[in-house]
Amino acid sequence: MQRRTKIVATLGPATDDPKVLDAMLQAGVDVVRLNFSHGSHEEHILRAENVRNRARAHGRQVGVFVDLQGPKIRIERFKEGKVRLDEGARFTLDAALGVNDGDVTRVGLTYKSLPDDVNRGDTLLLDDGALVLWVEEVRGSEIECRVVIGGELSNNKGINRQGGGLSAKALTDKDRADIKAAAKMQADYLAVSFPRSAADVNEARELLRQAGGHGGIIAKIERAEALTALEEIIGASDAIMIARGDLGVEIGDAELPAVQKRIIQAARSMDRVVITATQMMQSMIENPMPTRAEVFDVANAVIDGTDAVMLSAETAAGKHVAKVVEAMDRICRGAERQRSGLDSERRQHIQFNRIDEAIAKATMYTANKLGVKAIAALTESGATPLWMSRISSGIPIYALTRHVETRRKVTLYRGVYPVSFDVTSQDHKQVNREAVDELMRRGAVRDGDLVIITKGDLMGELGGTNAMKIIRVGEHGVDPY
Ligand code: PGA
Ligand code: MN
Repeated sequence: MQRRTKIVATLGPATDDPKVLDAMLQAGVDVVRLNFSHGSHEEHILRAENVRNRARAHGRQVGVFVDLQGPKIRIERFKEGKVRLDEGARFTLDAALGVNDGDVTRVGLTYKSLPDDVNRGDTLLLDDGALVLWVEEVRGSEIECRVVIGGELSNNKGINRQGGGLSAKALTDKDRADIKAAAKMQADYLAVSFPRSAADVNEARELLRQAGGHGGIIAKIERAEALTALEEIIGASDAIMIARGDLGVEIGDAELPAVQKRIIQAARSMDRVVITATQMMQSMIENPMPTRAEVFDVANAVIDGTDAVMLSAETAAGKHVAKVVEAMDRICRGAERQRSGLDSERRQHIQFNRIDEAIAKATMYTANKLGVKAIAALTESGATPLWMSRISSGIPIYALTRHVETRRKVTLYRGVYPVSFDVTSQDHKQVNREAVDELMRRGAVRDGDLVIITKGDLMGELGGTNAMKIIRVGEHGVDPY
């Protein structure tokens, strides 16, 4: 069985070695992430090119997504590079301090308005929650804090407020420049960091389109406020990332498991794609084997219904890049084998709004209940296979399309596999035969198997799917298609 859950891997120094990149792609990465919090445009453009070239050499399709840095609030730098903060000590965050002037008593801030946003009694978390500060007083540019949990603090570490509520706008000037680079490298997806509302997501989409980019928009759910606007944010996006790193810091780690399940369910029921991210295989940055807890984390995300699981530093800066992808691949397959529930009951009250949506979803009910071996969706934009993949099933969905953008976009959809397929004729029997032949070549079906093909009367037309054709492959000598 092919793996249905998709694997997203972040590129970085560790994957710049061509041997490592090849091994990673061969281990089954479906989508690569370029983290624009680090590195130059030239570096990212080169990485995207390398991946696409190597994927082509392997005969594979790999999606590329650009992840914007967003308004991550950070401390500036220390004279000595780092300090050690002791529990109970005073420490001041000073928006007026020079960039490199930090010491054990104070440090500068990238976001000069932070003192306007915080109050006495707030808890600030540094370095993804490794250090905790309690705000005693805000005076002008200075936030005077008491160290609640101390430790080593080095340059440029991130700051979050427990409970969220910091007002920084989602798209920074750097993000606006980065969106242009994303358009230039023809990114298949663009991830918006720290969106607060649908408006933030829409703005990113408009900027990307203005710059000539075609990619889908991923909203990263990583602020407490995003949870109160969850439905509108999902509605404005093509895909959602459960960004457990920052989100966990803002809402508390104990809330995360329930929130992950809620977001996955909400995204799927609104016909959107969902990625589960951060620390999934954290220990494999150093070690060749995952912990049992990591095995369960990946498996549980698969069972929750995520489209994709994501690797961050595990691949970007890890010591065992191929091994971590292999481990994730193995765990996803294992979890998919255990999966039982088909979620048809949940959707019983849902109306279909369009003909192509009705065909897509009816296809899945039929396929699940008739024992179909494979589905071939002839598609222009990828909408039909997206709808199909929102219904739980173990049946592979092949997205047959002539558009490379569509083939790359569906790399993120659970259970959907891109196939290059150009309709050269409007003769339906001919096209059916070619589609079935293509699936046979891939070993997806053989004589006697049932296949469903979906397409439109006028093939090659956007949104035109209006037919589901059920075919039995082969049938010795006769030509039933
Ligand atoms: P980041 O986003 O890795 O860009 O911070 C993911 C997260 O916060 O979990
Ligand atoms: Mn984040």
